[in-house]
Amino acid sequence: MSKDIRSIFHEQGLKFTPQRKAVLKVLQDTHAYLSINKIHANVKEILPGTGLATVYRSLETLVDLELVVKVHLEDGCHSYTLAPEGHRHPIVCTDCSKVIEYTDCPIEDLSKKVSKDTGIPIQNHFLQLFGKCKECRA
Ligand SMILES: [Zn+2]
Ligand SMILES: [Zn+2]
Repeated sequence: MSKDIRSIFHEQGLKFTPQRKAVLKVLQDTHAYLSINKIHANVKEILPGTGLATVYRSLETLVDLELVVKVHLEDGCHSYTLAPEGHRHPIVCTDCSKVIEYTDCPIEDLSKKVSKDTGIPIQNHFLQLFGKCKECRA
C-alpha cells in the first residue's frame, strides 16, 4: 500500500490507533480474505487483550476509509481484505469461502441505462457473485 495511511486517518479527523494499525497489519501480512474471528486471533498476537468488538469497529472504519473491502458470505458472515487496486468484483466460493477477483466490469453499460431511465447519475456500484470454485468442484 503506497498511500500514507496515517494522513488518510488524519484527513478524516480519526486517530490511527494501535488497534486499527494492528488490524491493518494483519490484513497486509495475509493478502487473503479473512474472517473476523481469524483477524481477531491474529490481532491478539500483536495486541493481547484486544476485544472482538474493537476489531469489528476498526474494520468498519477501515472499510469506510476504503482501505479495506468487506465481502458477504453465504452464511451471513463477512470476510475482509485489503482494498485491491482498481475496480473488482469478488466471486465467493459457496463451499470454502475463497474469493476470486473478477476484473471485468459488466455493470457499466447497465449503470448508463439506469442513469438514463431514472435521471440519477449512477456513480458507483457493488456487485458480488457466488459459485463453487474449481477446487471445490473437483
Ligand atoms: Zn471453494
Ligand atoms: Zn463493476
